[in-house]
Amino acid sequence: MGIVSSPISAEEIKGAIPAGPKGRAAVTVVIAVPKEMAPGEQRVATVPEVVQKFMKSGLEVRVEHDAGTGAFYSDDLYIAAGAKIASSRTDLLDGARIVLRVQPPTVADVDQLAEGTIVIGFMNATNNLEAVARMRDRNVTAFALELVPRITRAQSMDALSSQATAGGYMAAILGAGNCPKFLPMLTTAAGTIRPATVLILGAGVAGLMAIATAKRLGAIVEAYDVRRAAGEQVRSLGAKFLALEINAEGQGGYARELTPDEKEKEQQMVSAAVARADIVITTAAIPGRKAPLLITKETVATMRAGAVIVDLAAESGGNCELTRPGTTVHEHGVTIIGPQNLPARVPFHASQMYAKNLHSFLALLIDKDGALVRDFTDEILAASLLVHAGEVLHKPTRDLLSGGIP
Ligand code: NAD
Repeated sequence: MGIVSSPISAEEIKGAIPAGPKGRAAVTVVIAVPKEMAPGEQRVATVPEVVQKFMKSGLEVRVEHDAGTGAFYSDDLYIAAGAKIASSRTDLLDGARIVLRVQPPTVADVDQLAEGTIVIGFMNATNNLEAVARMRDRNVTAFALELVPRITRAQSMDALSSQATAGGYMAAILGAGNCPKFLPMLTTAAGTIRPATVLILGAGVAGLMAIATAKRLGAIVEAYDVRRAAGEQVRSLGAKFLALEINAEGQGGYARELTPDEKEKEQQMVSAAVARADIVITTAAIPGRKAPLLITKETVATMRAGAVIVDLAAESGGNCELTRPGTTVHEHGVTIIGPQNLPARVPFHASQMYAKNLHSFLALLIDKDGALVRDFTDEILAASLLVHAGEVLHKPTRDLLSGGIP
């Protein structure tokens, strides 16, 4: 396909693109959306509805052939919304100023980018050091959506929350699908069925969505979180909050790590609740650290036969000792599911929400005339700027790259 755009220099990216005579940007900003290549990834970084919004802002949107197929957005839908379909990665990236992704780029992905390209998406930087170093060395600019601060103004850009919502929903569905019991109470001619009990450990964004979904399926729902503030939200969804007299709310609304004594008390209360549950969904996480162990193998042995554990923390070490990431194990008659990338299993809506997050984020980066902003001093841009002008700006990642302690 023919691409009309000038080569990009790092200087140009650092500054604004000069405005044209009628106030429009002199150079149309080209946004490129590659097909996600990570195994099992069905999501796409933009959807036709959002392409229309970009078009209204005077941007050019280029989507790699088949990029939306996994999420059921066909090339035709993107074309109807105004996007161009690029048949190869080279055509896609030729002259593109901004690349929108879901998964972090690989080293090979980075090698295809021109100097000064801006890449936006989840970067999982501390586990993706080689690609981060390559972006630094190739003078690529990277914004990491997981670093967007959780302030009110950034709510519409909060991709961690939108994808956790998708993950929490899918966790409840997976739990129900693997449970040998009905979830709701039933009164039928063939007898009365007691409702199943679902326990949610960790009532953050994913946990609250799992609670809401399990409630809608008719289960009795109990939940626990170390943050006392979560209790009110749990109760407002009609679930029972298991209270332990600990307040482990740390900075920014996230959990802090518990003391050994607190951990012991928590373990006892959680174990008793786990033993009486038909489905346990665990979502407990501490940012940047291994997930806390909440269900030991001894506790699993006390569970009912046929019970199911869905461990949403599987990718960060697991909340259950027997979890194996990416697989399902059966121990003591209990099914333990360690799903990876659950949001990708609701790709249509997960992509739609993610695309809207990115659209809101880009509103900070592109002004009303369709030009890139002059600097990245906005609080949200500054906080999420991972790599820029040959430097890694996120200290923990920089420390890891230099062999220091983050
Ligand atoms: P997360 O994914 O980091 O953690 C999930 C949950 O696990 C958290 O609620 C955490 O308290 C809990 N947890 C950690 N250790 C635990 C343990 N040992 N036992 C039980 N639970 C444990 O968190 P998240 O879902 O991304 O969000 C966490 C908080 O941030 C929530 O309060 C959420 O409402 C808040 N938040 C605020 C904004 C905003 O203001 N814009 C946006 C999103 C989330």
